[in-house]
Amino acid sequence: MNIPNQHIDVPLLREKGVTLHIKREDTIHPQISGNKYRKLKYNLLEAQKLGHDTLLTFGGAFSNHVAAVACAGHEQGFKTVGVIRGEELQDKWQDNPTLNLAHAHGMRFHFVSRSDYRQKDEEGFLRTLKGECGDFYLLPEGGTNTLAVKGCEEIVTEVDSYFDYICSSVGTGGTLAGLINSAKSHQTVLGFPALKGNFLKQDIHTFVRNDRWKLMTDFHFGGYAKVSEELIHFIL
Ligand SMILES: *Cc1c(COP(=O)(O)O)cnc(C)c1O
Repeated sequence: MNIPNQHIDVPLLREKGVTLHIKREDTIHPQISGNKYRKLKYNLLEAQKLGHDTLLTFGGAFSNHVAAVACAGHEQGFKTVGVIRGEELQDKWQDNPTLNLAHAHGMRFHFVSRSDYRQKDEEGFLRTLKGECGDFYLLPEGGTNTLAVKGCEEIVTEVDSYFDYICSSVGTGGTLAGLINSAKSHQTVLGFPALKGNFLKQDIHTFVRNDRWKLMTDFHFGGYAKVSEELIHFIL
């Protein structure tokens, strides 16, 4: 798969002597875009190999990962279950575009309270879910696990050797870990977390094989989907 790099040419970058390209991972698939596709690739193969017919994952109501799991599952013949943070959404998920997309691709929802959601990695909670939803292949929140990182190692290819820096936004860190593992010895990987807090550094450490990377922690704007006027201006 050869994903094009698009050159971004704006006065600010010229002024600073920076050449910027964006890898158009969003062009991979109309719904399972970019890193979400990469993170699912080897996990779906594994689920198939193990003979599972259901995928279960976790996320907030605006999780693109949840929508991607629904679409990928639909395409590849898996049933899908989304464990969604926030019981209050039970009666009004129809108002949410992300959950609507997931539902249109056949996902069943399981709404849980914020405190139950916090147990998402615990054996007991997963066992209860198996009792309620049947057996499943588990994709963790954000889809990040070893196989997801392996998929993300395929984002950067030989044609990208030209670059000194590889930058990415960071949610759960799986994408960044893949980029780090495939970066060349002359390249540095910079990650820009959407959340504050330092848990990410340890998480990423468990997946990576070199230390040519850094988290830029001052650009989080307070969490997912939080913006300021300055940020919107910059994006535009
Ligand atoms: C989901 C997503 C991320 C976060 O990926 P992680 O592997 O969870 O860090 C970053 N950027 C974009 C555009 C995304 O859609």
